[in-house]
Amino acid sequence: MVEPNSTTSGGAGPEVLPGAAPLRRQSWLPFSPPAVGQAEIDEVADTLRSAWITTGPKTQRFEREFAAFVGAPGALALNSCTAALHTALATLGIGPGDEVITTPMTFAASVNVIEHVGARPVLVDVEPDTLNIDPAAIAAAITARTKAVLPVHYAGHPVDLDRIGELARAHSLAVVEDAAHAIPAQYRGRCIGAGPNPVAFSFYATKNLTTAEGGMLTGEPAFLERARVLSLHGMTRDGWQRYHEGGSWFYEVVLPGFKYNMTDIQAAMGLCQLRKQEEFQRRRRQVVARYSGAFASDEAFELPVARADTTHAWHLFVLRLRPQALRIGRDQFVAELTARNIGTSVHFIPVHLHPYYRTKYGYRPDDFPVAYENFRRMLSLPLHPGLSDGDVSDVIEAVLAVASAHRR
Ligand SMILES: *Cc1c(COP(=O)(O)O)cnc(C)c1O
Repeated sequence: MVEPNSTTSGGAGPEVLPGAAPLRRQSWLPFSPPAVGQAEIDEVADTLRSAWITTGPKTQRFEREFAAFVGAPGALALNSCTAALHTALATLGIGPGDEVITTPMTFAASVNVIEHVGARPVLVDVEPDTLNIDPAAIAAAITARTKAVLPVHYAGHPVDLDRIGELARAHSLAVVEDAAHAIPAQYRGRCIGAGPNPVAFSFYATKNLTTAEGGMLTGEPAFLERARVLSLHGMTRDGWQRYHEGGSWFYEVVLPGFKYNMTDIQAAMGLCQLRKQEEFQRRRRQVVARYSGAFASDEAFELPVARADTTHAWHLFVLRLRPQALRIGRDQFVAELTARNIGTSVHFIPVHLHPYYRTKYGYRPDDFPVAYENFRRMLSLPLHPGLSDGDVSDVIEAVLAVASAHRR
């Protein structure tokens, strides 16, 4: 069961006198604590008591069950989404002289992996509603050197896979999807990860499904077999194949591979988290419905969208402030929520603003005006299965109170 770190405070507490300062929530409401319970603790302990703690039977089972969950042709468990993205690009043979088109509205890992293989990241702007990479901008950025597109299903809203797929086919490009937020998102009735593209999922501590650290690469079995070798030192046999009963000591190194394997301790958590996904998603949707109901009619806010023919995974609830309705900006808004004990975050500082990318490629903030303008007015509200009804009320009350205090 979900054991929230947060303490319920909504409803309780002393009466507020009319005109008094807004009540501050008694305890800090963390932005995104992990929803880990007794089942995970028991399964991890079972692994620790067994004779096998690294990549082995539980990792294999987690791969099979994860593939079945999203309907993937195959799955390769790794130690992060970053590792999955890096392995996918390297397996595709992308390297120096190549270009990979991606979005600035992401965590830097999506772009760092392009640098890791020695290719050039080509950032293009996002669409104003979903903040996903803009297919028209991808089309305009394709050159003879373009080898792949790396779209991110931002906040859990699927990108326009049909339009990106058409461009990829027309120009012989690979599509490597960053699905760190997209468990379990759907595009035209199919889960993200169910198609032939290499798709990278994250099981980081704040994500919809967590193994503390971890990731999964889904895709075609033949592709994943090459990726598996590359992800473990370039060895033809992994530890389980060498050390378990009936195994053989012999292996060969056919490539200078990485060390990206998942452990059975992580897989133990993953197996439990997988079984809870339906319940987690139900709770996420209830929280989203309450936030949407509370903020929809307020001109100070722009709410997240869910386009037709998609199922949002609701990893994030990104609220955008409308500067024409408020006298304060996002930073002040966040500071006042923090003062009211509400934890928030910002997803993301666009990649082109970070010093490494800004300096190397000479980017200016306005180079991607949609990403930049939206970044300046966005904040992410707490959205996780451990939120109580009282916690949600506290967030709503605090957000409305801050807006009311600073209306134009
Ligand atoms: C979290 C995240 C990653 C990285 O995931 P790790 O599992 O921590 O490597 C990549 N892309 C996006 C969009 C993310 O949010």
